[in-house]
Amino acid sequence: QLYFDHNSTTPIAPSVQEAILPFLAHFYGNPSSSHPLGIASREAVEDARGQTASLLGCDVDEVIFTSGATEANNLALKGVMGRHSRATGGHLVISAIEHASVRATAEYLERQGFDVSIVPCTDQGVIPPEQVRSALRNDTILVSVMHASNETGVIQPIRAIAEICHERGVLLHTDATQTVGKIRTLVDELEVDLLTLSGHKAYAPKGIGALYVRRGVQIEPIMHGCGHEAGLRSGTENLVGIVGLGRALSLASKSLDPAAERMTLLRDKLISELRAGIPEPIVVFGELATRLPNTLYVSFPSVVGLDMLRMIPELQASTGSAAYSDTNSISHTLEAMGVAADVARGSIRLGVGWYTSEEDVERCASLLIHAWETLR
Ligand code: PMP
Repeated sequence: QLYFDHNSTTPIAPSVQEAILPFLAHFYGNPSSSHPLGIASREAVEDARGQTASLLGCDVDEVIFTSGATEANNLALKGVMGRHSRATGGHLVISAIEHASVRATAEYLERQGFDVSIVPCTDQGVIPPEQVRSALRNDTILVSVMHASNETGVIQPIRAIAEICHERGVLLHTDATQTVGKIRTLVDELEVDLLTLSGHKAYAPKGIGALYVRRGVQIEPIMHGCGHEAGLRSGTENLVGIVGLGRALSLASKSLDPAAERMTLLRDKLISELRAGIPEPIVVFGELATRLPNTLYVSFPSVVGLDMLRMIPELQASTGSAAYSDTNSISHTLEAMGVAADVARGSIRLGVGWYTSEEDVERCASLLIHAWETLR
């Protein structure tokens, strides 16, 4: 199998699998129990919290484990808006390229009576900090801009946006699902108040994620119960997921730069082979912007991306975010970038990962070139 869909999900790293196994087989105690099996589970949860905090450069009590990035994004937006503006309403700003879990949450909040503004992006898929500044109002409570796009891989100027928000006393949340474990994601460097991450984009299992909440930032829980996770996320901890997340993030932190360098080389090799083999111009979305090392979102000329992928069952890739792969609709990200419909339809997103080899890249390029020639 040629797996080029690492922005959708990653395999579970072998050492993460190893770390998880004892918790599937033997250590099944409830982390809230005070007997030895419970204590062992609690220690494992807190070790993982330490590993997560260490990658983010924050304190352990600022990490709230959730079921994934979707829940973390829901908790950030609903939690902050709900807490800060009970009777008075309030204003939320998001960007035009956010993941559905941010956009749909913003739509929900709008139905609840909050105002929402959407900041546009450039044709390179960048959210200009000055556009965020113009969207701010006196009643703005929270801004949410993703750290990097799951589609284009374009990395956003989060720190500059944070400075603008903080000048006005506005909180900043970033969905860092695509950056954590791929590039440096330090909360103090980014100056964010809340940050979302997900395990299954970083070689941990699916169904685990976390929200970083800067100390002092008040949020309302969306899951009520026994008061787990400092009262912000009730429910018995996903022990297996949490252990896996901790191990995966500690693994990532050990080789962040070399892994990024390697992925950049593979990604650049992939596009140069594609361009060498296809005589008409291939569009790379966000090519002039700073992008994630692993992500190549391209449009092949005069063909439909989905048709190309259907010709190559061996190649696991998507036409855009998973939400669009099976439909003819165009991704909202490309739409926001002003990409023409026929160019958008030619798109395929290729994401390399830790275990992608040069041979995989060569094979992927040659299969795509062959499919293009056949369809053309
Ligand atoms: N945000 C971004 C940027 C994503 O790429 C994804 C996964 N497609 C999510 C949020 C949702 O993550 P999860 O599957 O952990 O809920």
